[in-house]
Amino acid sequence: MDDMKPKRINILGIPVDCVTISTALNYVEEIILKTNKPSSILAINPEKIIKAKTEPLLYYSIKHAQLLIPDGIGVVWAARLLGLGKMKRVPGAELMPAICERAAQKGYKLFLFGGKAEVNTRAVTVLRKQYPGIKIVGHHHGYVSKPEMPKLIEKINTSKAEVLFIALGSPTQELWMEEYFPKLKNIKVCQGVGGTFDVIAGTVRRAPLIFRKLSLEWLYRLISQPRRFFRQVALPKFVYQILLCRLTQ
Ligand code: UDP
Repeated sequence: MDDMKPKRINILGIPVDCVTISTALNYVEEIILKTNKPSSILAINPEKIIKAKTEPLLYYSIKHAQLLIPDGIGVVWAARLLGLGKMKRVPGAELMPAICERAAQKGYKLFLFGGKAEVNTRAVTVLRKQYPGIKIVGHHHGYVSKPEMPKLIEKINTSKAEVLFIALGSPTQELWMEEYFPKLKNIKVCQGVGGTFDVIAGTVRRAPLIFRKLSLEWLYRLISQPRRFFRQVALPKFVYQILLCRLTQ
C-alpha cells in the first residue's frame, strides 16, 4: 500500500496530499482492501489550516489521517506559490460520490452518520437512486449526545459497514474520529464530509458552475450562507501568512 501513498507536503506546518480525484479514489480502495483498522480521509482548506495551528486536537487528527485531500482552492494556490507542487482541488463533496460509485460497483458496505434526521434519510434515498446496487447498510443523523454514542457505535459495528461518511462539521467530525476510532470494529475508511449530505439531499446547493470554474466556490458559500462570515475571517489570515512565508523563503 505504501507505494500508492501520495506525496505529502506541508503548508504552514499542516500536511496535505498531492492527489487527484482518481488517485485519491484508488488509494481509498487500496486502504479498504488492505487494512483492518479505521483510516481517516480529511479535507484540508485554509480555514482548517489556520484552526489546526491553534487547536492541538484538530492538529493531531490531521497528523494521524491517512489521506488529506486539497479541498480548498487556497491550498492549491499556496502550494503553487510556495513551490511545493502543482495540484488540483479535490473537493470532499466530489470525492464522496466517487467513493459511493466505486463502492456500488465493488459491493463495499457504507454507513452515513451526520446531518439533520431528514437530511440524512434523504441523502440515503438519493444515493440509492443514483447508484443502483449501492450497499448502504446503516445511517444515523448527527445529533447524538455523548451518553447515546455507545448505542450508535454498536449500530455501526453490527451493520458491518466498511466505509463511514461522517458529516458533523469541522472540527467535530475530526475529534469524533480521534475519540471513537478505537471502538469501531469493521470500518476501514472514514471520510469527514462536512455539509456534503445537505448538498446530496438538495437542502444546500453547491456553487453554480461559473463560481466553481472561477475557483470562487468559497465566495458563493459566503454570500449564500452569511452565518459563515466569522469562519471565513481565517481566509485573509491564511493569505497573509502564505505571502509572508513566500517573502521569507
Ligand atoms: N451537524 C450534525 N451534528 C451536529 C452539528 C452539525 O450532524 O451536532 C451537521 C449539520 O447538520 C450539517 C453539517 O454537520 O449537515 C455541517 O455542515 P457545514 O457545512 O457547516 O460543514 P463544514 O463546513 O464545517 O465542513
